[in-house]
Amino acid sequence: MQSFVYSAVPARVLLGAGLRSRLPQEMDALGLRRALLVTTRSQRDRARELARRLETRCADVFDRVVMHVPAEAAADVCAAARAVDADCAIALGGGSAIGMAKVVAARLDVPVIALPTTYAGSEMTTHYGVTTDGMKKVERTPKVLPRVVIYDPELSVSLPAAVSGPSGMNGLAHCVEALYAEDANPVTSLMAEEGIGAFGRALPRIAADPGDLGARGEAFYGAMLSGIALTSAGICLHHKLCHTLGGTFNLPHAEVHAVVLSHVVAYNTEAAPLAIARVARALGVADAARGLQDLARRVGAPTSLKEIGMPHADLDRAARLASQSPYFNPAPVSYAGIRALLDDAYEGRPTRASSDRFHAAAH
Ligand code: NAD
Repeated sequence: MQSFVYSAVPARVLLGAGLRSRLPQEMDALGLRRALLVTTRSQRDRARELARRLETRCADVFDRVVMHVPAEAAADVCAAARAVDADCAIALGGGSAIGMAKVVAARLDVPVIALPTTYAGSEMTTHYGVTTDGMKKVERTPKVLPRVVIYDPELSVSLPAAVSGPSGMNGLAHCVEALYAEDANPVTSLMAEEGIGAFGRALPRIAADPGDLGARGEAFYGAMLSGIALTSAGICLHHKLCHTLGGTFNLPHAEVHAVVLSHVVAYNTEAAPLAIARVARALGVADAARGLQDLARRVGAPTSLKEIGMPHADLDRAARLASQSPYFNPAPVSYAGIRALLDDAYEGRPTRASSDRFHAAAH
């Protein structure tokens, strides 16, 4: 048996339709009495409904969530929490709302309870980020890991199909990279493979019927596993590239993941054959990279960088940024390799192995 290190993720998880009704008891069990409810504008009505159920346990609702947590928004949400002497932050929404609640947890030393509505997986991680002058600085502390996570599929049926597909591909990417990351271990690999299967089954069903509560629940199961896998095993080239493309070139977060994932899997296939074989097995396909590209197409996610606004002239800079500082990845990371990968992703070409790309460049 190979030696390994596995760090457990100690969150309490409730998953099931209607389980948001258990929020008051969950707060009581933790002795929490004054929550700041943090939500995106699109979820304001849901937040009001939740606040009514919480009665005096909800001290205020904050709905000025901004994606990637700009420093001003971080200061804003912390001021709102201090103003009502909040003893916890409850996040209702996607990674953006959860990211804002995590800042409150980090700076005010109060717990977070999360009710996710997307499949980004942030609710199961110890990472949080704040963006200053266009640069997102990501830090880690167990303080921001939610104490309780309630996955209620009824909260996600309003997530449009066009957002659900890319969001699921974002969660899938955490599972895929966890299989070959530096801290990959047998325990998180089990979860990662299970998560890929859950997303592979659920996302096409959601695309066909966004009101399918069973599929929504299964996608949440995938999201839970993806967050655990991400925070326990780590990340590689795919996440590095997506952070560069999202942060520096301001491309939409989940959509970038959906476009890039299959190309990175193709890039890493020869260097991490066993991990990639598990991706294929979980999806029930012969070729993992092609399978992921097909899945993205089937769930209505974008498949090229050009269709989500990446300027062609910036591909060189993106490749330089993603290859300049060393980080772990199964296949060697080179400027030429990343540049060729980005070219394929820009055009939305079928995926191809690194060796094929090399041969194409040589002729
Ligand atoms: P998001 O939270 O910005 O939500 C995407 C869109 O969906 C928004 O317009 C939102 O208003 C809308 N929406 C959310 N729930 C809805 C619902 N139920 N009905 C209708 N509309 C709804 O996007 P995201 O992709 O979930 O999160 C992205 C952010 O999370 C990024 O900043 C990313 O860096 C961060 N993230 C962090 C981690 C981590 O571990 N810290 C992990 C993944 C993502």
